[in-house]
Amino acid sequence: MLIRSEPSGLYCEKGDFYIDPSRAVDRAVITHAHSDHARKGSRSYLCSTACEPLLRSRLGKNISVQSMAYGATTQINGVKVSLHPAGHILGSSQVRVEYGGEVWVASGDYKTNPDPTCTPFESVRCNTFISECTFGLPIYQWPAPDDEWQRMKRWWQNNRDHGLTSVVHAYSLGKAQRVLNALKDIEAPVLAHPSIMEMLPAYTSQGVSFPKVELADADRILTHKGKACVITPSTTAMEKSLGKPDEWEATDVSGWMQVKNSRRKRQLPSGFVISDHADWNGIIQAIKASNAEQVYLTHGDGTLLKDWLCQQGLSVALLHTGDGRSEDW
Ligand SMILES: [Zn+2]
Ligand SMILES: [Zn+2]
Repeated sequence: MLIRSEPSGLYCEKGDFYIDPSRAVDRAVITHAHSDHARKGSRSYLCSTACEPLLRSRLGKNISVQSMAYGATTQINGVKVSLHPAGHILGSSQVRVEYGGEVWVASGDYKTNPDPTCTPFESVRCNTFISECTFGLPIYQWPAPDDEWQRMKRWWQNNRDHGLTSVVHAYSLGKAQRVLNALKDIEAPVLAHPSIMEMLPAYTSQGVSFPKVELADADRILTHKGKACVITPSTTAMEKSLGKPDEWEATDVSGWMQVKNSRRKRQLPSGFVISDHADWNGIIQAIKASNAEQVYLTHGDGTLLKDWLCQQGLSVALLHTGDGRSEDW
């Protein structure tokens, strides 16, 4: 096996490097800057060019990072390594590993749906494909993102017409910037949590556009009460400024919104089905396009998907990688 699962993560022994290790290692290849994939303490990191500023702002300015453009190749102990767009968040990569004529691709998190805030998923041919399957069940079939964004704009307008502040719960890296980009033409004061603001320069430097975004502090929330759209991972610190429960309306943006008994067990009045992961059809499409003879499924319960793919004649196994619970939906 060119890549195998170890307690510290996916390991390539020939090249002596890990992909998204769960512990500090000598050499880490990072698919993207989400915290269940990028962890502190490793001696050196390799990631895509667009991922580097995000990785530094999450792991520290002084980490040792080598970054590469998508499609460029480097050698690690005689193993050929290149990164290819995964379409998950800005800078997200699939890792292609080649040795002795054999090609493996580790997908990291990916999606095949359109997202103007990152480079679209690119299928990479390989012998063995290690695919995430967070939403690997047939019940997950995403609606067109544009329809959901239109619905969100109408939701905001309706709130404003009723004098309510709109609050969108979105993960601080990836989802929040996607929401901001989608809302770039709304005529509302748009406020964002500091953890979201911190990531914006990395996006604008890659040409992603946003509306005018102000910091969601107590003063601004009060000033724009009843009109604003506030994007934040959580409202815990801002409930006082938002006012009484009937003065604001909150929503969630997540693939989990498709199932009624959301795993998050939060009772929210409305939700938007926008995910940064591939749905059932997206995963199957990506696996087929890889042309792989052997498929490993990680990140999620792949039992049903495995059976389905086996029926199609593929050789499929489940691969358990570390302990990371996804925080980006
Ligand atoms: Zn992720
Ligand atoms: Zn993940």
